[in-house]
Amino acid sequence: MEDPDDLYMEDIPGVKEALQNNDTAAAAAKIQENLKQQHNIPLNIAITGESGAGKSTFVNAFRGLCDDEEGAAPTGVTETTSEATPYPHPNYPNVMLWDLPGIGTTKFPAKKYLKLVGFEKFDFFIIISATRFMENDVKLAQEIQKMKKKFYFVHSKVDNDIQAERRKRDFSAERTLKVIRDDCVQRLGGLGFESPQVFLVSSFELHLYDFNLLHQTLDRDLPSKKRDALLFVMPNINPEIIRKKKEAFKRRLYWLATLSAAGAAVPVPGLSIAVDVAVLVGAVTDYVFAFGLDIPSLKRLSDRTGVPYADLCAVIFSPLAAAEITTELLLKVMTQVGRTATLMAAEEASRFIPFIGIPVAMVLSFITTYKVLNAILSELAEDAEKVFEKALGQ
Ligand code: GDP
Repeated sequence: MEDPDDLYMEDIPGVKEALQNNDTAAAAAKIQENLKQQHNIPLNIAITGESGAGKSTFVNAFRGLCDDEEGAAPTGVTETTSEATPYPHPNYPNVMLWDLPGIGTTKFPAKKYLKLVGFEKFDFFIIISATRFMENDVKLAQEIQKMKKKFYFVHSKVDNDIQAERRKRDFSAERTLKVIRDDCVQRLGGLGFESPQVFLVSSFELHLYDFNLLHQTLDRDLPSKKRDALLFVMPNINPEIIRKKKEAFKRRLYWLATLSAAGAAVPVPGLSIAVDVAVLVGAVTDYVFAFGLDIPSLKRLSDRTGVPYADLCAVIFSPLAAAEITTELLLKVMTQVGRTATLMAAEEASRFIPFIGIPVAMVLSFITTYKVLNAILSELAEDAEKVFEKALGQ
């Protein structure tokens, strides 16, 4: 276990006081409430742009869905609706991608358009264009800005641009991308938008080009409490994303461990401590979902990449990945990891006391839960990296 000083914890108001007053039930209730809130933080992302720009394809790619799958946004069809259509993320329905009609389809000026689609509910807007940004796009961006909301310009289908240029003798991908970017920026400048940032994206290859940069930018701009919601739905486009997911979960470990220490609970066979198994099943399911290691996510990844499902499963080590997480399965895994953890926890109990004044048994429980979950988290993150390499590694 790393040095306890490394533990990152955001304070949950009232927990420390409750524990100091020996009111473990109140402490547990506060932690549980906080974890639940974190899990359900809504994030509403608006995707707008003219018909054919690639909105639906982007919505599907972001959610890891194939275009012809059930629940996918229909692609390649001419827009007929003037309503925003919500598409929840399959593993995190609190994150919603909204496919908006093109502003041109509605024939409304920007202000009316935003009212029509209900702009208040969106955390930010992505304005997509496959060709050149138009006056409508700029007017919309300006209006969004007036409404104190954020927007991001995305130039889509950049794989097409690259493909077209590739035939040229002196082809350079970098140079091509720079030309496209400069052209977009210049065009937007001409329409009255000074030095905008434009992200070049291919929905067929999110792991290439600027999609990662788009995530970094969104992450920087979002309020801190919404960042993890975005992070957990991000497709695993590189090892860095997987590492960030792991770190985010690690920050929550402290409270899960405290909860297990404070909670009256089910004794785990083989572990001399008590843990709240339902909470742990929830936490581990969350890891598996965010890493895309649940069976439906792996199947979708296989469909999208063409790498057989069995080949993806073959690189997985954790018994919790590509499996249904039941209490029995988790207890079995925890018991295996837990035996070593309990022994080590006893040694460390004396030097690691989370809150002054709580009994040693609780400290032991805390450390054991922390270690067990940490081990599971690390193993799943490693599996996610291996699956990523298998699916997308060049
Ligand atoms: P929408 O009307 O804005 O929702 O556009 P769609 O998502 O339906 O896309 C229109 C067409 O562009 C479809 O045939 C898509 O397959 C294609 N398309 C969308 N995104 C991309 C992309 O990133 N690369 C390529 N090559 N084609 C794309």
